[in-house]
Amino acid sequence: MNRKKNIITRRDLLEKGMAAATIGATGLLSAPSVLGKAAQGPAVVTRRRFRAWISRGNGQGRTTLHEVTLRPIAGRQVAVRTEATNLCYSNATAVLGQPAIAGGPAPAPSALAPPQGARRMNDMAVIQGHGGVGIVEAVGPEVRRVRVGDRVCVSGTPQCGACYRCLRGRSDMCQFLSAIGADDLNPIADMNDGTPVFENSHIGGLAEMMVTTEEWVVPIFTTANPVELGMVCSCVSVAGLASAISDNLAPVEPSSAVAVVGCGPLGLSAVQGARIAGASTIIAIDPIRVRRELALRVGATQALDPNVERDNLIQKVRTLTTWPTDRLWSGGRNPAGRRPGAGADFVIEAAGADMFPPKLEAGPDPSGILPMQQAYQMCALGGHLITTSLARGNVTLPASLFSIGGVTHHGGQAGGANPMRDIPRFVRLLETGQYDAKAMATLVVPIDRMLEGYEQAAYRTTVTAIMTA
Ligand SMILES: [Zn+2]
Ligand SMILES: [Zn+2]
Repeated sequence: MNRKKNIITRRDLLEKGMAAATIGATGLLSAPSVLGKAAQGPAVVTRRRFRAWISRGNGQGRTTLHEVTLRPIAGRQVAVRTEATNLCYSNATAVLGQPAIAGGPAPAPSALAPPQGARRMNDMAVIQGHGGVGIVEAVGPEVRRVRVGDRVCVSGTPQCGACYRCLRGRSDMCQFLSAIGADDLNPIADMNDGTPVFENSHIGGLAEMMVTTEEWVVPIFTTANPVELGMVCSCVSVAGLASAISDNLAPVEPSSAVAVVGCGPLGLSAVQGARIAGASTIIAIDPIRVRRELALRVGATQALDPNVERDNLIQKVRTLTTWPTDRLWSGGRNPAGRRPGAGADFVIEAAGADMFPPKLEAGPDPSGILPMQQAYQMCALGGHLITTSLARGNVTLPASLFSIGGVTHHGGQAGGANPMRDIPRFVRLLETGQYDAKAMATLVVPIDRMLEGYEQAAYRTTVTAIMTA
């Protein structure tokens, strides 16, 4: 395999014809949408060969490893050599094919039905993945945020800094995120037979290269271990940490009581975020024993099994959060009664629907709806609920509790992370030993064993899996 990088000069381009460059320059930049105007012209062009897991068609076996050729880099594009990427559960159905579980997967944005007449993601050759960590190999002439040689996080969510939401401090909802449908994607490489290769959400990850635009990259000036960086910069760690400490939503307060419902990598990161924020009570809730044990290792003060607690779960959380006393005249709060004052001051929900039948302990509701409802009801009156998961169905709540119960609900897209501000902070938490990424990365696989890693993540036999490239 030829891994040699070929840098082609502007003169070469002129001599060899501008056709290829023009195709590259159209990229995201000429999409007739929120993505901006045409590029000024290519500055750095590569014809680099790299290995990529390509997903197309339906069913199991839809994802196979190929060597492909990078297209020219132009405009605001950034080409990143992948060091590590997390194998995210929410992307598992796209990688492994349709799930065996009744009811199908939770609707991730990329799986939503396309408008009539639009092209279908399943008909395209797509590199799946939710970004990762790597080194910048090439940038287009309009890129300002990063330089060749920089170590970067290719973030699961973009931050343009200029859209309506970014200008109002909510880069977790950057509106570039709305343009990740099949028709919004642009080819970044070609297969040997000329088939164009696209990337999920403009970022991919399951390949030796990620090509994106600068909205999706965050420079991280660090020499940390790539596997640990792959963990801390993953969509799940970022969302988990942010749901506890990003001030876009409801940052956990020192000495508060926190409940984390669901202890996958996102929930376990939230447990760590709550510890870092100084919570005094951190209740981890998960049906899987090894996840409860890991939660206790990384910061939880108590762990509850929803299959054991069942209908008593909410009351149990209230009992554990009656601090410092139940004497109301003395600063206390009541764990029972019509309007109990006890409950978690902050609840972070990270359970979600099963997309595959778990091979370890299954939870009480594979749709993820019951844990979400319980999360609402275990929140203290006046407290904050941050939801982060993809559940399947509709949530039903007592109307009076919902209306006047005093619970503030935050829809935690990316946990409320503001990527350019928060991801470097999270890397610093890793460097200073406050965030334990090593304990979270329970399986590390090289690129050619990616599918094996993904199956373990999908069937929950590992907390998370990191692919190195
Ligand atoms: Zn993800
Ligand atoms: Zn934006």
